[in-house]
Amino acid sequence: MKLLKDLYNILMPRKCVVCQNTLEPTEQYICAACSVQLPRYPLKSIEDNELLRKAWNFAPIQYGATLLYYRHQSDFHNIIIKIKYKGGFQLGIKMGEWAAREIAHLQLAEKTDLIVPVPSDSNRKKRRGYNQAELIATGMGRIMRLPVMNLLTKKESGESQTRLGMKARKENATGNYEANIPANLKGKHILLVDDVLTTGATIGNCAQAILTDDPQAKVSIFTLTYNANR
Ligand SMILES: [Zn+2]
Repeated sequence: MKLLKDLYNILMPRKCVVCQNTLEPTEQYICAACSVQLPRYPLKSIEDNELLRKAWNFAPIQYGATLLYYRHQSDFHNIIIKIKYKGGFQLGIKMGEWAAREIAHLQLAEKTDLIVPVPSDSNRKKRRGYNQAELIATGMGRIMRLPVMNLLTKKESGESQTRLGMKARKENATGNYEANIPANLKGKHILLVDDVLTTGATIGNCAQAILTDDPQAKVSIFTLTYNANR
């Protein structure tokens, strides 16, 4: 098995996702040099922080956390690009596992009951074959020992405009996201997971969709990266 792996590494040298240098056999996805330079977000509190203040514009949320700054211009952006567009299926799961270990001290696993990924456009998912938030959530669920469930759907854009009245207004408040919480999961504390938080609208609308479907639920949020520039 090891021989096969060595051979594979010679034929297909593994490269650091960030700097593209060849990885040492002990390194996975990100080289040691890049690992120490990751643009870490200095999270001081999970009860009140920049992410929560953005997301609170859309829904009442309990706790919020992130790990890295989203830096469009830097090589670290390659991590997100790779997970999103370049078949980084395993990388997405590994980043989720890594994230869960990194935030273990925040005890979100103890505070929440299940993980729900933010859905991607169903068209985009069809094209790419997977949802990047779901990959991160899957990795986190393994380490945090929490179930990962797809309880949210994003409706095709344009659909809402054709509807009127109460339903249309409800959709407006949740930005076209819809939650379907099964009866046995009502009143649970849900950890919503996404790859990036920018304005907070996406994850905030997802939180509101959950709370609209289940007013007894609690919602907390985790995003792998945080875009502070907007
Ligand atoms: Zn590197």
